[in-house]
Parts: sequence; structure tokens; C-alpha cells
Amino acid sequence: MDEVEAAYEWVEDKLVFEPQLVGWQSAFKHGLLEAGVLPYNGFTFKHIVGTKIGGTIFDPDGHRHSAADLLEYANPETIAVYLHALVHKILFTTEGDQRPRAYGVIYQDADGVFHKAELAKNTMNEVILCAGAIGSPQLLMLSGVGPRVDLESHGVSPVILDHPMVGKGMGDNPLNTVFVSSPRPVEASLIQVVGITKFDTFIEGFSSVKLPNNMMHTFFQGVLSLLNETSHSTLAVIDFYKQLNVMEIDGWIVNKVDGPVSRGHLELRNMNPDDNPSVTFNYYQEAEDLEKCVKGLKTIIKVLNSNAFSSYKYPNATARELLNRMLSLPINLRPRHESAKFNLTQFCIDTVITVWHYHGGCQVGRVVDKNYKVFGIDALRVIDGSTFLKSPGTNPQATVMMLGRYMGQKILRERNASGENNEDYSIIKDDTDKSSSSSK
Ligand SMILES: Cc1cc2nc3c(=O)[nH]c(=O)nc-3n(C[C@H](O)[C@H](O)[C@H](O)COP(=O)(O)OP(=O)(O)OC[C@H]3O[C@@H](n4cnc5c(N)ncnc54)[C@H](O)[C@@H]3O)c2cc1C
Repeated sequence: MDEVEAAYEWVEDKLVFEPQLVGWQSAFKHGLLEAGVLPYNGFTFKHIVGTKIGGTIFDPDGHRHSAADLLEYANPETIAVYLHALVHKILFTTEGDQRPRAYGVIYQDADGVFHKAELAKNTMNEVILCAGAIGSPQLLMLSGVGPRVDLESHGVSPVILDHPMVGKGMGDNPLNTVFVSSPRPVEASLIQVVGITKFDTFIEGFSSVKLPNNMMHTFFQGVLSLLNETSHSTLAVIDFYKQLNVMEIDGWIVNKVDGPVSRGHLELRNMNPDDNPSVTFNYYQEAEDLEKCVKGLKTIIKVLNSNAFSSYKYPNATARELLNRMLSLPINLRPRHESAKFNLTQFCIDTVITVWHYHGGCQVGRVVDKNYKVFGIDALRVIDGSTFLKSPGTNPQATVMMLGRYMGQKILRERNASGENNEDYSIIKDDTDKSSSSSK
């Protein structure tokens, strides 16, 4: 755990700042305390029960920081970053009865040219897959590692290893939300205050999310693409935006269920790594997750009814009315039930959306071992959110970055202890290969 802490601090020193609370967030914080989300834990990165102020990746000048800042730590002499390089498959040697061993990748550059990149000959060299919760299981499958029947049905050949658990255990922390209009002006804020309940939900809020606003726009881009993909017309999308404008949303309070027990799966749809695979999360399939959602919404209702929050909500708007407004918005493609207007369980089911905290698919203990090495294969690790059994209720990117640092340190130590020539990290690259792509 000391190494985990050190890895978190390595990331935090570069990227994480204490936010300056705006008035709306301050009222929301006091509302949470009035609603019983106790104790008050002040400013902390720790995920502990109670109300806290969390870290932000916006510095005091309003500049956003990201994982790219961590490259400042890197030695440019020993690292090469290829942009617009889409990996189509991982390459394996499969001689005799030996375990498959990863030895490189096929990638496509921005001009559409395919290249083969091979590891230099050093037994410690390995391919490390970090394509994310959706990309990593997809790329393993495209490379012939996954459930045999599924791979064969999509024409993946050869099947390198029948690995039934690849793509299984996909999860996402389900989110339900309520929009609030304010009679007084509201300053813009992203998440600053976090209420962590005893029943494993995270309650957070954003303010001044009127359109046009980048954050709001990003949030609804996913919804809009869904609407476009289905029977909804562009007109429906425009209507949706109009409705949002008419509603004059000044605040947005969300409840997220941390570590849902409902689990789903990921399957290939085709052989193109640039296409999304099919992912099913089974939100609220398990009653336990639903109960947490209902308790979280009851807490939000208390916040909306609190004295502390009263000046940021019109006095005649009841909490229930605010919730019911959500039922009129096409925030997802689920059917709306009349009972959702008075039954919070149905409200949770009807208005659930993603918070993009999807994880799983290459879970530790199922697809990778505790050193993040893929079971049954040599020289291949997966190190990203696909390995998580659960994702933290907030700031999963912090945990992903910590994992990168933690494992990086561990791998360097292993290399140093191995006695191999550790200068030889290089890959043999630019071996242009126009024949190997599976998508051709
Ligand atoms: C809209 C949105 C908002 C979010 N907001 C927050 C937030 O406020 N706070 C927070 O903590 N987290 C947030 N998250 C979640 C956070 O971004 C993820 O938890 C985190 O990025 C996961 O890290 P990862 O390394 O597992 O995957 P990713 O960050 O997804 O990295 C995977 C990378 O692999 C690349 N890739 C995939 N396939 C291939 C391929 N075949 N070839 C080459 N490259 C490939 C992808 O382009 C991507 O760059 C948000 C996510 C989204 C989508």
C-alpha cells in the first residue's frame, strides 16, 4: 500500500489541485451535511464516508491538466510516442506446444499504411496493452485471444488462446440525475463537493450548465449519437436542446452507484478496431444496485429541501417535480413508465445514464494475474481500467494513472533484477506490412 500511496502522490503532485468553492457548491455542501451525509471531511483525495471537497485537474488559473502532463517526467531519449497509430492486432509466436508469446503489433498510421512493430530480442521485453475498458478486450479478441466460439463466429483466425473471460464482467457505475433551476445567478463549476454515503453512492453536483457549454455538450454528445443511430430524427435532437434551454438548468445533481454488482459483457461486432464493439452493462439488473440508487435519490431530495440549498431552488418547485422533469427528457433510450412519477425504483430504471466509468473486460484474476500478465500468454500485460473489478465512485482516472505508475515502477525493478541488458527496450519498427491487417 505504501507503493500505491507513493504512486498516487506522484500523479497528484503534477495534476491535482484544490478547487475554490463557488457559492452553489458551498450551498450544496451544507445541503449534504443537513441531509445527513456526515462527517465533514474537508479537502481530501480519500474516498471516505461523509461530505468532502475533492481534487480537481483545473489549476487556479483555470487551465486543465491531463495524463499528458506526466510525459514531463519521461526521458525523451528513451520514449517514442506514435500518434494516430491504430493497432489492429497483437502478434504472437505459437511454436510447438509452447505458450503463445507476444512479440509485436500491427498498426495503421494516419495515411492508412500498415506497419509491423516488433520487440527487440530481450526476454524481459513485452507488449503492454492500455487500450482502455472497451479497447483492450476488443483488441485481445481481434488478436485471437477470447471466447473461441465468439471469435470463430466473427472469422478471427487463428484463435491463439480460448480465453472465455475476455470481455466478461463489464461494469459501469450507473448514474441518475436531477436538473435544478435557480432564482439567483450561479457561477460555473464542475464537481467540487462529493457526498459519499454509507450505502456506497456518490452524490455530486455541477453548476451553471446552461447551453452552450462544453461540458454539457460533451455529456449529451453520447445521447445525441444514440438518438441519431436510432429512429430519432435530427429534429428530435434539436427539440431536445430546445427543451434543455427552456428548462434553464442552473445546477445538476447526480447520484452514482459505486461498485455495482450488476455486470455485463463485451462482444465483437466486426473485425474493424475502429468500430465500437457491442457492450452490455445490465444497469440495475441486481436489486442491490437499485436499492442504493433509491437511497441516493432520497438523500438528493433532502438536499433539495434543505435550508442551505433553498436560495438555489425556486420555492414553488418541489423535489418530486424536479425529478419528474427528467422523465420528459430523452436522456436515454429506455421506455418511460407512468409509475416512475411516484416510484423511485422505477425512476432509477427509466432515467439511468452512464458516467463513463466503464471498467472490466480484462479483470484481475479472470483475464490477467495479479501482475497484470495475461493468463496463458507470455510477454503480454494489460494495464488500464479494463482490469478493474470495480471503479471508484469518483475520479477513476486518478486510479488508472496510479496503476500506470505503480506497475511501471514494479516492471523496472523486475528488469533491473533480471540481469538482462536493460538498455535494450527498443522496438524494430517501420517494417511496413500491407498484408497483415485483419480488416483488409
Ligand atoms: C466523457 C468522459 C468524461 C469523463 N470524466 C471523468 C472525470 O471527470 N474524472 C475522472 O476521473 N474520470 C473521468 N472519465 C473516466 C476516465 O476518462 C477513464 O476512467 C480513464 O480515462 C480510463 O483510462 P484507461 O487508460 O483505462 O483508458 P483510456 O483513457 O480510454 O485510454 C485508452 C487509450 O487507448 C486508445 N486505443 C484504444 N484502442 C486502440 C487501438 N486499437 N490502437 C491504438 N490506440 C487505441 C484510445 O484512443 C485511448 O487513448 C471520463 C470519461 C469520459 C469518456
